[in-house]
Amino acid sequence: WSAETIAAVTGANRGIGFEIARQLASHGLTVILTSRDATLGEEATKALQEQGSKAVFHQLDVSDHESIDTFCACVKEKYGGLDILINNAGISHNTGSENSVEFAEKVININYIGTKNMIKSALPLMKPSSEGARIVNVSSRLGRLNGRRNRIADVGLRQKLEDPELLSEDVIDATMNKFLEEVKDGSWISGGWPQNNTDYSLSKLAVNCYTRVMGRVLAGRGDGEKIYINCCCPGWVKTAMTGWAGLTSPEVGADTAVWLALLRDQSVNGKFFAERREINF
Ligand code: NDP
Repeated sequence: WSAETIAAVTGANRGIGFEIARQLASHGLTVILTSRDATLGEEATKALQEQGSKAVFHQLDVSDHESIDTFCACVKEKYGGLDILINNAGISHNTGSENSVEFAEKVININYIGTKNMIKSALPLMKPSSEGARIVNVSSRLGRLNGRRNRIADVGLRQKLEDPELLSEDVIDATMNKFLEEVKDGSWISGGWPQNNTDYSLSKLAVNCYTRVMGRVLAGRGDGEKIYINCCCPGWVKTAMTGWAGLTSPEVGADTAVWLALLRDQSVNGKFFAERREINF
């Protein structure tokens, strides 16, 4: 890797995102550390620069179209494009196993729609190369379709989300919209949605499903213009999001995302990983 390899990380001012940026930079890449708050992002970037990293800062709020457009235009102009995009930015209003459906719209908007908009806007920027560009979405096992706990009860809906022939962006969006409608009219509890971490789990389920959809779309690209997209679960990590509960450090939580971003294996596309191993969606 060299300083010519350009990686961008969203939500990188702290937590797992900061660690992903730090670890990528330790391989000699140029890392664009982004955050929605410029002061926090600049401080985090300075910390990496002081360690000798080639880190630069750019403001980026993934829930703001204008911010995404400005970021992409700047990346195009300054670097000609991106080799690696890590969609790490995310929020959760769940503490423990409680629900926070009152925040459902905001959570889905940042975690799913924000990630999706970043991917759509960044795709034309991804640099064509023989190795291929890489997109990694930091997701969660809580968004698994067939997890033993916390899954959608409606078998028909689960099948629709599971079957590659039926799954599409429209199906994912319709699922999120149905859930949000039921939250609004108060019928979501009987709607068969996961009962714990409901809104967060569904936002990550959508990220996982969208990774699969895009994996299929991108698989059709020819040699020299390949883009690989995968998602991963960092584990239960001691960060602000978990109130510093959790089993692992941000350093360990960042590992699989960094590994996926630097992977040369061309068969790894549209898949879900944890601890560097493929897991079921
Ligand atoms: P943190 O809360 O520490 O970090 C989240 C980061 O996302 C912050 O930098 C935050 O910025 C940023 N962010 C939030 N909203 C936006 C936005 N609209 N635009 C840009 N950035 C935004 O949490 P973690 O480091 O733990 O989480 C990182 C990722 O890992 C998330 O996607 C999370 O869902 C996922 N994850 C975490 C797990 C864990 O156990 N910690 C488990 C499974 C998945 P700001 O500082 O301004 O709020």
